[in-house]
Amino acid sequence: MALGVYISVPFCRSKCSYCNFSSDVFSQRVVGRYLDRLVAEVESAARTAESMGGEFERDLDTLYLGGGSPTILDSHSLERLFVTIRQNFRLLSHAEVTVECAPGTLSSATLALLARHHVNRVSLGVQSFIDPEAAAVGRLHNRTTVAGDLAQLRAAGITNTNLDLIAGLPHQTEESWDLSVQRAIDSGAPHVSVYMLEIDDESRLGRELLAGGRRYHAHFVPDEELIADLYLAACEKLSRAGLVHYEISNFARPGFESRHNLKYWKREPYLGFGLDAHSMLRASADPYSWLSGVADQAASHVGGGRPCAVACADLDAVRFSTPDSLEPYLSGSGPSRTLVFRRGALEEEFFLGLRLTRGIDISRLALLYGADQVEAFLPTIGEFTAGGLMLRDRDVIRLTSRGRLLSNEIFARLLSVSESQVSIFEHRSNWGGAREL
Ligand code: SF4
Repeated sequence: MALGVYISVPFCRSKCSYCNFSSDVFSQRVVGRYLDRLVAEVESAARTAESMGGEFERDLDTLYLGGGSPTILDSHSLERLFVTIRQNFRLLSHAEVTVECAPGTLSSATLALLARHHVNRVSLGVQSFIDPEAAAVGRLHNRTTVAGDLAQLRAAGITNTNLDLIAGLPHQTEESWDLSVQRAIDSGAPHVSVYMLEIDDESRLGRELLAGGRRYHAHFVPDEELIADLYLAACEKLSRAGLVHYEISNFARPGFESRHNLKYWKREPYLGFGLDAHSMLRASADPYSWLSGVADQAASHVGGGRPCAVACADLDAVRFSTPDSLEPYLSGSGPSRTLVFRRGALEEEFFLGLRLTRGIDISRLALLYGADQVEAFLPTIGEFTAGGLMLRDRDVIRLTSRGRLLSNEIFARLLSVSESQVSIFEHRSNWGGAREL
């Protein structure tokens, strides 16, 4: 199966107050070191995959440059990235090639370069079409900038565009949010992502909110109830405008769903390169490749006997990720790995598949993982359907709109069902998914 590749470019013109990603404003010298490391990483992709115990594949049907703001790189650096990918992978002719872009960073030279490298999708970090709201969180663009970027992209033949919006920015009201969503619809972009503001100590705004302070306009952030209402209002308005709500945070006109992000939710294989980048590959058929370094763990779980045969039958995939801090990454620290055994894979099927509006077919899971394994989840699923958080139509289960709002709690409950089961291997994937990164 062709892979997806994600390239992390964690550089921005300025740091947004709500940002909880591993991105920042760095000097040119750091950017240069980063690119050297990134290129080396891509060049050794096949060897890394093998050492992690995953099945490597040279064909790519999706490529995603995210960050950060990849479009703030100079033309030489961007060119180097695309050329490195082409030298080490085979980008299929129908591949979806996405680049994230901070509005206002698309020079004509950058646009020409993107077109030359067959970029056919651009994701713009708009966040709000209300200028004072965007300015309050440190965005450097206004809505005129966004309109200009969209016009430029269309002129260059790139009509597959996504607009990111955030519900819960300081100063947002029901009226201003409605106007923002309307402007996103009116822009003609065929894909819109709507995220609810995350309030945690990973961002300056989140920390200020938790501390009850007033910096970063924290005292103008809508309360949680209003943020939930804003999200639900956007779901309704975008759906009415023909943008189908296909994933918790994502809306698209038919045929414009993000093929790259669908790989994450459908558990299809992908590789990530750069800072804090995640990969998931099917486990190699060769047990010695993935057992290296875990033979003791495997042996102890099966009482010291034949670890390879037993563990092989149980292993589904390998996940690995690069360091999430810049210095360890630049100094060459290798990826850390999680083995995903069948029990973990079934958990992932639930909490990734339920993100999709189409839901999951539990009879398919029973065929793949065993009816007894899936049956353990049925009482909890029954509770969710009785509580109005899930719908069950024969063998297909999906979240209701209330269920989407409480998805993290639902996923945690489903994981606890699995934990109560006895497994040969104590395994827990620590991978929780990815934003339209
Ligand atoms: S939100 Fe996006 S543009 Fe803003 S600092 Fe974070 S990664 Fe950069």
